[in-house]
Amino acid sequence: MTTRRALIVGGGPAGLATALALRDAGWTAEVVERSVDPSASGVALTLWPNALAALAALRADKPVREAGCPAEGNQIRAADGRVLDDVPGPVMAERFGGRGLALLRADLVAALRDQLSPGTLRTGVRCVGWTETGGRVRVDLSDGGTATVDLLVGADGIRSAVRRQLLGDGPDRLRYAGYPVWRGVARHDLGVAPGLLTMGRAAQFGLFPLTGGRAYWFATMPMRRGWGERVPRRVWSARFDGWHDPVPRVLAATPDEDIVVTDIYDRAPVPRWSAGRVVLVGDAAHPSTPNLGQGTCQALEDAVVLGRCLREHPVEQALPRYEAARRRRADGLTRQARMLGRVGTWGNPAACWLREQMIRRAPAGPRLRQMAEMFAFE
Ligand SMILES: Cc1cc2nc3c(=O)[nH]c(=O)nc-3n(C[C@H](O)[C@H](O)[C@H](O)COP(=O)(O)OP(=O)(O)OC[C@H]3O[C@@H](n4cnc5c(N)ncnc54)[C@H](O)[C@@H]3O)c2cc1C
Repeated sequence: MTTRRALIVGGGPAGLATALALRDAGWTAEVVERSVDPSASGVALTLWPNALAALAALRADKPVREAGCPAEGNQIRAADGRVLDDVPGPVMAERFGGRGLALLRADLVAALRDQLSPGTLRTGVRCVGWTETGGRVRVDLSDGGTATVDLLVGADGIRSAVRRQLLGDGPDRLRYAGYPVWRGVARHDLGVAPGLLTMGRAAQFGLFPLTGGRAYWFATMPMRRGWGERVPRRVWSARFDGWHDPVPRVLAATPDEDIVVTDIYDRAPVPRWSAGRVVLVGDAAHPSTPNLGQGTCQALEDAVVLGRCLREHPVEQALPRYEAARRRRADGLTRQARMLGRVGTWGNPAACWLREQMIRRAPAGPRLRQMAEMFAFE
């Protein structure tokens, strides 16, 4: 059987996981990544049981579990500390097959990269365009080189250049969600603690234990596009003064250089993610707001499903099958995340009271079933 070659654009979680999945499907895959050091970003993220199941399918879960810190369940609280919802760790383990864990994005990227054969990832190289002819794709690279392959995978994130050429929708189609998110890593030991989301008036704060006596947090509040970077730290962080312990202490234990601010965007779901021999995965296909913490998790699911389709079918059949298997779930979570993001920005006291009642009174059965659906991968 002739070797089938793929080029993957983007060395983030989606691109590296896809390289592992294609390797398992018998393909030869190369990844090009524009950054010189793709693991340089200092931000952290949470991975849920569905992500760990996808990583297990790629035989890459062990190093990720070693780098991550499991949360002892999940809580939603009010700004004064009242617990509005509590799913303890043992319930998560029993109902969802595991707990969530938090880790540095750099550690996830390194864990995936280390599973690849040497030479699979080329850094400091950008995809600048591509042409599909005669059943092959010719990809132009920023170093002046070209690659001619049987499959091009766009794993190049929310501002994907591969997507722009494939679907004709560039970054101008991104939808600003109405808020930035500040993320940080604090020198603060939470010990064994649940993952926490605290909902206040027009502000939210999330908190997860990390390894090494550190804590990962995120904070958000509605703001005009671009203002997150301009507002001084003392101004936005004052919004959390008087919130329950340890929110102010965690903020105080975070050096400026360990805080990153990002304006939040997503895209409206689209009817296709592929054409011919070009396909999108991860944020290039379905970028969502981070309110469910599912962006990376869904990217890992994409990789596994795409790999499986390519192992079992020729490219022309594999790509539509991959889309059919993935679109409903990923697009549904994009819609849910956007809606949750809106509810999280409510500032009107009556609306906030209503939100609290809805969280506190939600019947446990349907709520746990909904979570189980989200956290289940196959
Ligand atoms: C504030 C915030 C919090 C989040 N929290 C979570 C969370 O807790 N859990 C979770 O699961 N998800 C979370 N996410 C979502 C998550 O970050 C993304 O879904 C995930 O990074 C998608 O992975 P990706 O590989 O598709 O894209 P990316 O991580 O964006 O990687 C794309 C890669 O492609 C490279 N690239 C871009 N263009 C080119 C080019 N032309 N040529 C070569 N390389 C290129 C980039 O340098 C980058 O390395 C969060 C997102 C935000 C904004």
